[in-house]
Amino acid sequence: MAYDYDDQNIFAKILRGEIPNATVLETAHSLAFNDITPQAPDHVLVIPKGPYVCYDHFADAASGEVCRLLGVKPGEGGDGYRMIANSGDNGVQDVQHLHVHILGGRWLGRMLQKPRPE
Ligand code: AMP
Repeated sequence: MAYDYDDQNIFAKILRGEIPNATVLETAHSLAFNDITPQAPDHVLVIPKGPYVCYDHFADAASGEVCRLLGVKPGEGGDGYRMIANSGDNGVQDVQHLHVHILGGRWLGRMLQKPRPE
C-alpha cells in the first residue's frame, strides 16, 4: 500500500484547530476526542499527531510510538471496551488519518458491522 497522506483530511484539520472537536485527552503525541456519530454510549477516537494514514504506515515510521498512542482509554477498565482500527478499502477506513475507535458504555456483542457500499 502506498502511503499518500492528504493533509486536507478531517482529522488533520482537527489537529490544526480548523475544525472543533470534543477533546477527551490530549498528550504530546496524540489526541483523543468523541466520535461525531457515536455507535455506543462511549465512542472515542484516538489519533497520533503525526501524518500517518494507517497502522503499517505508523509502525514503519514511528514504531516506538505505538505504546504511547494506545495508552489512552475511556476509563479505568470498568465494564470493558472495544478498540477498532479500520484500514484501507477492505477495512472501510473513511478518514485517511490513522485512528483507533474506543467504544464502551454498553454490551457490544461480538462485532460492529458496517454494510459494504454498492
Ligand atoms: P473510519 O470509518 O474508521 O475512518 O471512521 C471515521 C470516523 O470519524 C467515523 O466514526 C466518523 O463518525 C468520525 N468523524 C468524522 N468526522 C468527525 C468529526 N468532525 N469529529 C469527530 N468524529 C468524526
